[in-house]
This record gives sequence, C-alpha cells and structure tokens, in this order.
Amino acid sequence: MALKITRPQGTEDITPKNINKWYTVEEIARETAMCFGFKEIRIPTFENTELFLRSVGETTDVVQKEMYTVKAKETEFTLRPEGTAGTIRAMLQNGMLNDALPQRAFYILSCFRHERPQAGRLREFHQFGLEMAGSGSPAADAEVISLAKTLLDRLGLRNIALNINSIGCPKCRCEYHKALRSYFAKREDELCDTCKTRLEKNPMRILDCKSPVCGEIAENAPVILDYLCNECSEHFETLKKYLNNLSIEFTVNPKIVRGLDYYTKTVFEFVTTDIGAQGTVCGGGRYDGLIEQLGGAATPALGFAMGIERILLTMESQGCQFMEEKTCDLYIAPMDASAADMAMNIAQKLRSDGYHAEYDVMNRGIKAQMKYANKIGAKFVLVVGGNELESGCAKLKLMETGEQFDIHLDDRFAKEFEDLAIRYMFNDIFEEFEEEK
Ligand code: ATP
Ligand code: MG
Repeated sequence: MALKITRPQGTEDITPKNINKWYTVEEIARETAMCFGFKEIRIPTFENTELFLRSVGETTDVVQKEMYTVKAKETEFTLRPEGTAGTIRAMLQNGMLNDALPQRAFYILSCFRHERPQAGRLREFHQFGLEMAGSGSPAADAEVISLAKTLLDRLGLRNIALNINSIGCPKCRCEYHKALRSYFAKREDELCDTCKTRLEKNPMRILDCKSPVCGEIAENAPVILDYLCNECSEHFETLKKYLNNLSIEFTVNPKIVRGLDYYTKTVFEFVTTDIGAQGTVCGGGRYDGLIEQLGGAATPALGFAMGIERILLTMESQGCQFMEEKTCDLYIAPMDASAADMAMNIAQKLRSDGYHAEYDVMNRGIKAQMKYANKIGAKFVLVVGGNELESGCAKLKLMETGEQFDIHLDDRFAKEFEDLAIRYMFNDIFEEFEEEK
C-alpha cells in the first residue's frame, strides 16, 4: 500500500466535528466588530515580499526567521505572516483612505510563520484582527481596546489580563535607543547572534528576544516610559483615563514592546495563564508611521490581532459555552427501493422550507437506519414502505420520547410536520416563555 500522506508539521485540520467552535468565535467576533462600526475586509493569502520587509521590519523575528517565501516565475511572494500589512496595502490600493475617516476594517484569516510548533504555536494559524485608520486620538486606542475586551467577555472568557505600554514615537525613541545601546553594549558578548546585529540596527528588538540569556540581560534594561516625549506621555495618560472611565482593568507593563517594528505609542496584550507558555491571546497597538512608510499620506492608525487557536484553547480550558449545533430535524427511512422516491420528495419539500432533512443513501436495512438516525441526533424519524405507501399515512417518531404521531404522506405532510415540529422542537423555548410569564 502507498504510504499515507500526512499534513505538514504545525498545521491543523478543522474537521466538521469541531467546526461549531470556530463558528462560535467567528460569529461573535463579526457581531462585536460590527457593533463598533467595523466592516469585513478580505485580502490575498500572499503578497509581494517587499510589503512585509517594509512594514513588519527587517530586524524582527517574523522577517528574519519565520516567513514562507516562494519564488514563482521570477517574482518573490510571501504567505502573509500577519494581517495588518496586507490590510493597509489594500486600504491604500483601493483609495479607502480618501473616504470618510476613520476607516475601520476587520478580518478573519490564516497566517503563516515558520516557527517551532508547540501548544498554541502553529505554522498556519488563524487571526481575528482589525485596523482603524485616520485617528490619532487616544479615544481611538480606548475604542479598539474596548472592542477586544467586549469580544473576550462575549465569548465568556475570564482571567485574561490586559497589559498596556507606550513605546513612544521616533522622537522619544532616539534617546531611548542610545540608552539601550549603552546598556546592552556592556554585555554584548553574551547576547545571541541575532541580538548582536540588533544592537546597532534596532536595540528595542532585543527586549522581545525569546532566548533566555537575552531575556535575563534585558530584565534590568532602561524602560521606554522614562523617555517619552510630552505628546506621547500625554497620549498615554489620556488613554489610561479613558480605560478607567470604561471600567476596563489594566496593568502598565513597561516590558511590552511587541514583535513587529511598525508600532508607535500605545501597545497592548491580553494574556492568560490558563493555556501554558503561549498565553498571549491578543496583541495590538498604534502604528502612526506605517501608512506613510507604505507610500500613503501620513495617517495615524492602530489595530490588534487575536489568535483564534489560543482563544479556543482558553475557552476549552475554562469550559466556555459554544453555539448549539444544528442537527437533523427529520430522518426519512425508506423500507425498500419502492419508497425511495417518496423519501426524496419529502426531504426536498422540507429543505425548501428550511428544515434539515436526510434520507438513506446507503441502502441500509431499517435497523441500521434507526441506529444511524440516532447517531446523528435526528429529532424525528419517518419510516416509509409498502403499507404506508398504500394507505398514504405513516408514523412519525419523536426520538427523544419515542412518541409516535400519524402523519399524511401527501400534500398535507409539510404542514403537519411543521405543527409537530413547532410543538416539540421548540418546546424548551415555549416552556421558558411560559415560566417567564
Ligand atoms: P508571540 O509572542 O506569541 O510569538 P507575536 O507577538 O508573534 O506572538 P502577533 O504577531 O502580535 O504575535 O500576533 C497576534 C496574535 O496571533 C498573538 O497574540 C497570538 O494569539 C497569535 N499568534 C501569533 N503567532 C502564532 C502562532 N505561531 N500560532 C498560533 N497563534 C499565533
Ligand atoms: Mg511570534
């Protein structure tokens, strides 16, 4: 036998059995984003490599180690490692920034990064993210953070801490870089090779290095908050005031710098300790220089991205509720080939009325069909065969209680089924309603 081909390392299959969990997150994410005035954007899975070099930054882990780049017909493309660069490119290319500002767009997409696979860290993973372009006000920061928080709450998540920081603007960063360089220069020999090159080019990146030695050295490094210019400092203070006003709890963590180069001023993360080492479920911040860097007019902007796999891991570990799965309303079991036409017609009619109907396509005997109907959780089962065809009447079985109802197989079927379905399938809702009254 030929060797079975398996999926690439660090990728996952989302099977029909699990899709409901994804629908739950995606649906609540879409609804929440829309409540805040965001509309969905869909962008290509791959972009010109240059886009990520110019936005994510050449000294970041993502660009240096994690990009999937392919050369096709002499042109180099990269599978998107994140959604911000492509979204901003699309905003520029489609003239969206010439429309009324702010522009608000959200996305649900897969990202690709060549990382060491482990729990919560994949090579293909999914993000729900959004970008808001045009506002430099801290009110926009509060808005975006509040959206993320609202979504986490609506998903039923608990124990997720919000950490915020400001990493200033190019103006304040100049002095800060000097301080960092002189701090790290003292222990340059101990830094990892990547960080040695970062020391000159982009010393802040050392603060985000995952190597334990660099991490230990970075422990006592100067913090950016001590170097903020007046404008950045005021922006940060106002944001904190707004968050307090919205009763959103946060901790100022001067260690957060974020892994991508385009950030300015506000950066934030939502972190949980419930899913092991990869506990950052959401990361974001302001990137006031990015749009200009990508060839647009200087336009302040900000956004965040949530890792959907990490959100799901957290929801599972906290026992959060997922949407109820829609199961089969009616399973039709023909007793023999002569009843197959009838089964098809009934199913066709009910489906056009919006019901979920199935019938046997395996040529199984009645016993096996009943077993199958049970397995798929069918609410009603209708057995049709010789006698029923002759009399024009059949028994409809309510699976939950075993009760049987007489039902006509002619034009009356749909109406009679509807009456029974309303009475029995929505029984719980009726009971609740009655109780409330
Ligand atoms: P980390 O510090 O965990 O590597 P990051 O800073 O690289 O995260 P971002 O680029 O900000 O992450 O991406 C936003 C979110 O996407 C993260 O907070 C996380 O939830 C998720 N994410 C990032 N990389 C992965 C991955 N390899 N597998 C699964 N989810 C990921
Ligand atoms: Mg990373």
